[in-house]
Amino acid sequence: MNYIIFDLEWNNAYSYVSKGFMNEIIEIGAVKLNERLEIVDTFKQLVKPKITKKLSGRCKNLTNITNEELKENGISFNDAIANFAQWSSGYGNVFLSWSNSDLYVLAADYQILLGNVDISFISKYCDAQKYCMSFIEKEDKNQVSLAKCCELFGIDIDTSSLHRALTDCYLEAECFKKVFDRNKIKKYIVDCDKTFFERLIYKPYLITSPKSQLFNVYEQVILCPDCNSEMDRLKGYECVNKSFRCPTKCTVCNKSYWTTVRAKKTYDGVVVSVKSVDMNKKKARRLSQSKNQQKNNAHL
Ligand SMILES: [Zn+2]
Repeated sequence: MNYIIFDLEWNNAYSYVSKGFMNEIIEIGAVKLNERLEIVDTFKQLVKPKITKKLSGRCKNLTNITNEELKENGISFNDAIANFAQWSSGYGNVFLSWSNSDLYVLAADYQILLGNVDISFISKYCDAQKYCMSFIEKEDKNQVSLAKCCELFGIDIDTSSLHRALTDCYLEAECFKKVFDRNKIKKYIVDCDKTFFERLIYKPYLITSPKSQLFNVYEQVILCPDCNSEMDRLKGYECVNKSFRCPTKCTVCNKSYWTTVRAKKTYDGVVVSVKSVDMNKKKARRLSQSKNQQKNNAHL
């Protein structure tokens, strides 16, 4: 069993296929640690971009990778992944990266470039940043950068070579060794199957169609916030801000409400939230809002 610490460098590119920006991997770096945490091998591979041939200015500045370098030494994503998978193979190997954003980019690139997320060579993963941060007294909840973590752990770094995949891996390995705990690490290792990667790149969205195979807002039972009885709808739903809204009434309490139903499609299904606001209160709030608006307008 080995620990594979990997790091990816990527270039932000616009994909006409997926109609959006993506981070296209241009370099894979990795170090292999044995169970005694000794570095036994390294991996370094430039990847020729397919989506955009030209690197963004930000990417060039951050990584110092040049277009010429990629042209000369880069290989296709498919080949690079195949090499990396072969190099990193081994029973029970645990893959680590600094925050799961590298894992996310890997899965997203798989989906766009290869049309699937069968990243079967990674079966165990640990977010090294999360693990290392658990040893840091946090003043704020911000995520700690690798450079900051090295500073806190007293590890010397040469900032000029930061953000090159392999250099970052060496530094991550140093941080990891500094706080390694055979028992504690177990809690941070997750099993990765295909659904793990599908879930990772899934983008939840709010449903805006009142009736579809996924969801029918008219089947939603609306309960009174006071007495929990089923309420009546006074009108049909209208879609406002990606939610469905309609006036409702509790015949037990004899009170009217504005009910808002929000339906979010997630990887696992549809999550529905229902909120009913006292109609009078809401009307009152609206009135005060419009009054404030008038005041503001008067100030202008
Ligand atoms: Zn009621």
